[in-house]
Amino acid sequence: MPMKEFQAESKRLLDLMIHSIYTNKEIFLRELISNASDAIDKSYYKSLVDNNISFNKDDFYIRITPDKENRTITITDTGVGMTKEEMENNLGTIAKSGSLAFKNENEAKEGVDIIGQFGVGFYSAFMVSDLVTVISRSVDSNEAFKWESKGTEGYEIEPANKETAGTEIILKIKESSEDENFDDYLDEYRLRSLIKKYSDFIKYPIKMMVKKSKLKEGSDKDYEDYFEDETLNSMVPIWRKNKNELKSEDYEQFYMEKHFGYGKPLKYIHASVEGLASYTTILFVPDKPPYDFYTKEYEKGLELYSNGVLIMEKCSDLLPDYFSFVQGLVDSADISLNISRELLQQDRQLKFIAKKIKEKIKSELELMLKNDRDKYDEFFKNFGRQLKYGVYSEFGSNKDVLQDLIMFYSSTEKKLVSLDEYVSRMKEDQKYIYYAAGDSVDKIEKLPQTETIKDKGYEILYFTEDIDEFAIRMVMKYKEKEFKNVSSGDLGFEADEKESKQQTEENKDLFNFIKESLNGKVKDVKASNRLKSHPVCLTNEGELSIEMEKVLNTMPNGESVKADKVLEINTNHEIFKTVKNAFESDKDKLKVISNLLYNQALLIEGLSIEDPVQYANDVCSLIV
Ligand code: ADP
Repeated sequence: MPMKEFQAESKRLLDLMIHSIYTNKEIFLRELISNASDAIDKSYYKSLVDNNISFNKDDFYIRITPDKENRTITITDTGVGMTKEEMENNLGTIAKSGSLAFKNENEAKEGVDIIGQFGVGFYSAFMVSDLVTVISRSVDSNEAFKWESKGTEGYEIEPANKETAGTEIILKIKESSEDENFDDYLDEYRLRSLIKKYSDFIKYPIKMMVKKSKLKEGSDKDYEDYFEDETLNSMVPIWRKNKNELKSEDYEQFYMEKHFGYGKPLKYIHASVEGLASYTTILFVPDKPPYDFYTKEYEKGLELYSNGVLIMEKCSDLLPDYFSFVQGLVDSADISLNISRELLQQDRQLKFIAKKIKEKIKSELELMLKNDRDKYDEFFKNFGRQLKYGVYSEFGSNKDVLQDLIMFYSSTEKKLVSLDEYVSRMKEDQKYIYYAAGDSVDKIEKLPQTETIKDKGYEILYFTEDIDEFAIRMVMKYKEKEFKNVSSGDLGFEADEKESKQQTEENKDLFNFIKESLNGKVKDVKASNRLKSHPVCLTNEGELSIEMEKVLNTMPNGESVKADKVLEINTNHEIFKTVKNAFESDKDKLKVISNLLYNQALLIEGLSIEDPVQYANDVCSLIV
């Protein structure tokens, strides 16, 4: 038989195929199995339109046979097979897809979801083999043919013997070299795991004779090997099953098998969507963050399948960063794949799916918050911080997605509450959503700045995490209500303010003296309208709060920043009489008192005193 050359372009393309299109050689098996599955699909389709052809499901399977001795892997299918012409056309011309033509001719017919479309997958066989032999007999013919090629040189076709319709592909596996190990592909275990990884949901059985061992007859300790035919793939993916037939244990089992997380997932979502892109998805919210969740190594993403064939293990474009804890998969026939079926183009369908998934996660979490609060509390304990970072990052552009999902500790409810719940409880005369920031609930609880607000019966949100105040600054307003730090200058209590202004005015010289004594440490000294039992507190003017100053100054490489601090004095407190007396009769003593009051305010705020020794000495000087 004369050797036929591949067409010129085909030759170049084949060269490219073997050396550069695929980054991962192991996918050859996925490609050949997908072709075999397509071939069986075509038989199935033919049986639908031609009554003379019967389709008995048991007769259709794919078989993988490794042969270590001869260094071959044989992939056999009982599909449509190929005539001589089809071999010439489909295997002789690269980038010609018989499957795509079939698909186009039979568009929109039920039951046809052919995988192949680029006409290159077959050639991936040459990445791992020196010689590829295809023996095939078409369902439409009683002759069989053998196609054989060593790669770029060309191919030969000759008649062959084959009793039944279908195709047999024999790969002669390359010898291993120092750089590359090909022997692995002949290993039963490796083949099994490749099938599990890429082709688990091919809908026909993928069979292999596997080695097993059993006790020898009559013996209770001697074992002997034997071979047994085994189906290696699960075939029907759980996400294609009817939701009504699935129990939560099925999802939990799947979650474990897939290693999406340990234990049981906190929540699963199973959805099928039709639209610009049709897809099915199963999503899981883990019950705990993965061990590497808060490290740089953590990779977010969902598994992406096209018609049950794994395309990508972690498709990060499918999940926004703030939902990076979500695990699961998407299966869609509508995404555009590039030629190597590995990388995805940034296409409209993928964006559409990503958007829908984001909305689905959001709405499911909102439902959980409303209807299953204990579970949501558990979820928030683990991933709340991630959501708050989401609000803050990208200049707050995701706040609309996330603001209904975040929670803070409430001074009145003594538990985490949502912004919606807070606003629904706001008093009629209450202008702002009040919050106080600090290291812990206990510490905030004692902050003097919260006194008057609590007294008015207003609820206060306690911000205990670094990110909280930064996130809320991005939200700015919730349901038209602005947020207000209990330490900020204006609290919105007009009547009280009038009084404190008057007090400040009356004691102008006194306050000025204290300010001078503090030597630029505070921007102002004022009579307070927010204190009841405490003598002093610090508040801030301007954008930067004292808590934010603390956070920013602990950041590595962060520039040192200072909030504009104001020392507020409770003019109704006993101590103010002493202050007034000192101002009139003992200015040196007032200097000491000024520093003491300022340092006390710092301590209450959780800030450190610049000169603790001086502070201790000052306290002593008042005692003796
Ligand atoms: P694709 O699968 O993307 O169409 P391939 O290069 O993998 O491209 O295959 C080229 C063509 O060869 C297929 O479209 C199909 O027509 C034919 N073919 C490949 N493998 C088989 C097979 N096992 N049985 C029948 N036809 C096959």
